[in-house]
Amino acid sequence: MIYDLHSHSNASDGSLAPADLLCHAAECGVDVLAITDHDTLDAYDSLDKQLPAVRLITGIELSTSWNRIGVHIVGLNIDPANKVLRDGVTRQKGIRFERARTIAQRLAKCGIPDPFDAVVEIAGGSYIGRPHFAEHLVAEGIVKDSKTAFRKYLGAGKPGDVRHGWASLDEVVQWINSAGGTAVLAHPAKYGLTKSRTRALAKDFRHSGGRAIEVVCGSQQSSMTAYLARLAIELDLDASCGSDFHNPGFAWSRPGGFEPLPAGVRPIWDTWQTHSP
Ligand code: AMP
Ligand code: MN
Ligand code: MN
Ligand code: MN
Repeated sequence: MIYDLHSHSNASDGSLAPADLLCHAAECGVDVLAITDHDTLDAYDSLDKQLPAVRLITGIELSTSWNRIGVHIVGLNIDPANKVLRDGVTRQKGIRFERARTIAQRLAKCGIPDPFDAVVEIAGGSYIGRPHFAEHLVAEGIVKDSKTAFRKYLGAGKPGDVRHGWASLDEVVQWINSAGGTAVLAHPAKYGLTKSRTRALAKDFRHSGGRAIEVVCGSQQSSMTAYLARLAIELDLDASCGSDFHNPGFAWSRPGGFEPLPAGVRPIWDTWQTHSP
């Protein structure tokens, strides 16, 4: 069975509609897919029936910060109708909107004509994020591609990297737990932390009520996978895995396109009821 428990639809910054994402995942050989859009449950409002080709696990990826570092927490097997989670998502949506205003003001200070209205129009839904700013900067000819937009204006330490304002780690984990889900520390290798700081983050996350960690996320070095597997075992966290798929145009990121979980960890799905897809 191939489980891919981290992916994005066009309800956030992915390019495929939720139903098309499920079809694409099935074509790529995935048996069980979680759609985990950034701070929104809109995918679950638009999907009215489950496709037989792939089993769907409900999910979300919530933005938070830890010691001023932007950190993502995936919630799996959540009840998308749960009120505590819905209220939290509404709050994150407001934070995203205000954050977009701040990003626009900071870019204006760099000499870019205030992009706020154009970016709201590009976003066109409940998720408004840095990828929309990147799209605008490319469309205006200010940078040649999205990668350059992040390198010059939006990525870590650049003017558009606005990290404050998110709900706390305790809060986002509590929303997920209230919705009957499992909180998963997303892509620990992507925060640029040393191993000891990654361990400190995972311990705090565990203390907040988190129960799993992504031991494999997209393509990562096998030495990192081995380290994260040891961390999962040491801290008694279940192991999750996913592609963090956004777009079929990115040849390096394909649903199911990652190495299997190493032996010795406890796969997150062992705690779930299993039925065939
Ligand atoms: P936000 O949700 O507004 O913080 O935007 C973060 C999203 O931007 C991530 O989920 C990625 O999909 C995308 N992203 C982050 N860093 C980069 C980068 N260096 N190049 C391209 N896309 C990026
Ligand atoms: Mn994204
Ligand atoms: Mn993420
Ligand atoms: Mn993601």
